[in-house]
Amino acid sequence: MKVAVISGKGGTGKTTFAINFSKFLSKIGKKVLLADLDVEEPNGNLFFNYPLKYSESYTYIPKLIKENCAYCRECAEKCMFKALAVSKGFWMLFPELCHGCRACEYVCKFEAIAEDKRCIGKIGINEVNNPSFIEGRLNVGEVLTTSLIKDVKKKIKRIEEKYEVVVMDAPPGTSCPVIEVVKDVDKVIVVAEDSPFGFYDFTLIHDLLSELNKDYHLVINKFKDGKEIIPFCDKESINVLAKIPLEKNIAYKYSKGEFALDEYDEVFRDVYNKLIEVEN
Ligand code: SF4
Ligand code: SF4
Repeated sequence: MKVAVISGKGGTGKTTFAINFSKFLSKIGKKVLLADLDVEEPNGNLFFNYPLKYSESYTYIPKLIKENCAYCRECAEKCMFKALAVSKGFWMLFPELCHGCRACEYVCKFEAIAEDKRCIGKIGINEVNNPSFIEGRLNVGEVLTTSLIKDVKKKIKRIEEKYEVVVMDAPPGTSCPVIEVVKDVDKVIVVAEDSPFGFYDFTLIHDLLSELNKDYHLVINKFKDGKEIIPFCDKESINVLAKIPLEKNIAYKYSKGEFALDEYDEVFRDVYNKLIEVEN
């Protein structure tokens, strides 16, 4: 079972939930892979401190074959990302703007563009422990977040059969990287915060998932009274898996890089049982 843990904004407790849930599943004997796909700021391994084996992740960039180039400018005109500048006798790529779409290579009639590659980040993995762990780590200043997530997911695909549960900790927000994470998982868990801002951001992720026609389950974190979120869930028939109370102790443990397991074993057990129930 592949489960994506997402949130409409940062700070809802998405990562706290993902790491504690993974740890709980391993504690009850499940073989688990936790994937930190929050590649701009992966921090899951701060809790596990596993030694990770890294490999680099690359994206396509075009390379000019100078002797073939007619400087016709077709490639620059077709580049949606303005990553190419061409004038007479001059061809220049701005690699940081290039999204690796290959449109330039496709439109060039003179076979003047060849394939090259650019490193966008790295992928770290530890399969010795349970939960096993994989993360993507984007280079500083790099913008191709979705490309790196795709690459980490390719790696997950190659090993996922070994695991009973794969938990994917997605980046916060509602943009392309989140869509990339949720598009082919079996279950989506949204972690939303019980606050006015939290509720607003939750409605954004609700709209996104509705647009994608993707069912999801909700964990309400920092639960106080659910004044706004509970009536909304009732109206939209949203399955609330758990309400985790607002407690200083959880934040304190998180800030020290500790798990908050013992106190919440029952919450995680309940979440898992409900997920399995829905699956059957
Ligand atoms: S389309 Fe091909 S030939 Fe024309 S400028 Fe680009 S690389 Fe050169
Ligand atoms: S690969 Fe795509 S984004 Fe990159 S330079 Fe070519 S057309 Fe532009």
